Amino acid sequence: MTPLLAWQQADWQRLSQYRNQQRVPQAVLLVGRSGLGKQRLARQFAESLLCSSPQAESYLPCGGCKACQLLQAGFHPDFFQLSPEEPGKDITIDQMRGLIEVLTLKPQYSQYRVIVINPADQMNLRAQNAFLKCLEEPADRSVILMITEQPGRLPATIVSRCQQFALTVPGRAQVMAWLATETLQQDLDLPYSLAQGAPLKALAYCTGNTLPLRQECFKAWLELANHKKSPVQIAELWKALPEAQLLVWLLSWVSDIIKCYYGASTQQLGNPDLQQNLQRLAQRLNLAGLFNHYQLLLASYVVVDSTVNKQLLFEEILINWQILNPISTSPSLAAKQISH
Ligand SMILES: [Zn+2]
Repeated sequence: MTPLLAWQQADWQRLSQYRNQQRVPQAVLLVGRSGLGKQRLARQFAESLLCSSPQAESYLPCGGCKACQLLQAGFHPDFFQLSPEEPGKDITIDQMRGLIEVLTLKPQYSQYRVIVINPADQMNLRAQNAFLKCLEEPADRSVILMITEQPGRLPATIVSRCQQFALTVPGRAQVMAWLATETLQQDLDLPYSLAQGAPLKALAYCTGNTLPLRQECFKAWLELANHKKSPVQIAELWKALPEAQLLVWLLSWVSDIIKCYYGASTQQLGNPDLQQNLQRLAQRLNLAGLFNHYQLLLASYVVVDSTVNKQLLFEEILINWQILNPISTSPSLAAKQISH
């Protein structure tokens, strides 16, 4: 069974109350940023709803009943998941039709039928319209758990028919204590700060290759600023990298440059380890240009999970970033001009 994450006790109590009071909403929209454990919480709630003998008071799944076993083996007939067929693609009308068909049947094994839609904001327009009909005519004993980082991308007609559930963001001390139990890494301040306090993301910075990858991307971004590489070269280099993550890094670097411009201290930066370089950029870049670039990054972040051409999107961003950096202030070029 999916263990409850350390910081999700309060969230779990709120969710299990629904069950305890026999008023489980037909659709719950779980909202929270990346790294808080939305999928884990949804899975746990699904397990609890399907389990035939959940634990008293906590309503945590027993892990031993037939329903729990079927779910663990991936064969529970009343559990469905709807996600894009490939990351970044839409949830399509065909996929939604499959779900609608399922909803016409009664739950076959458990008291409830549970459907998890993740990420819910990836439904395309036709899928959304079909889904709206499901919400308007609720199926018997069916619970739909929708997961999203960006509820603003869902139409109000859908959101207003769901019970919204915002995940708790844990405090710094709790995240630090949890990280210390999960990783041997000593320096937890940087991962915490880069993950903006989201525990699972911070752990990924401690254990995976995310940190070296970020350093590499920052180096390439600086080379572009110094006119040592071309935007097309870097776009080609970044082609295989996770686009949303890249945009989050770019947004945080530009936002930190703006903060440096206003004299922010190291503690106020999202990237304290890069302060020296960010400071230098703040000294030579134009503030209006930086704000424009930030807007471009934000607009790109909104569409990055759609079917937009990602290579072109990044080329545009990188060209804009290079233009922002005047050639004359690049150290190597400045030296050349002096020698001529
Ligand atoms: Zn069970």
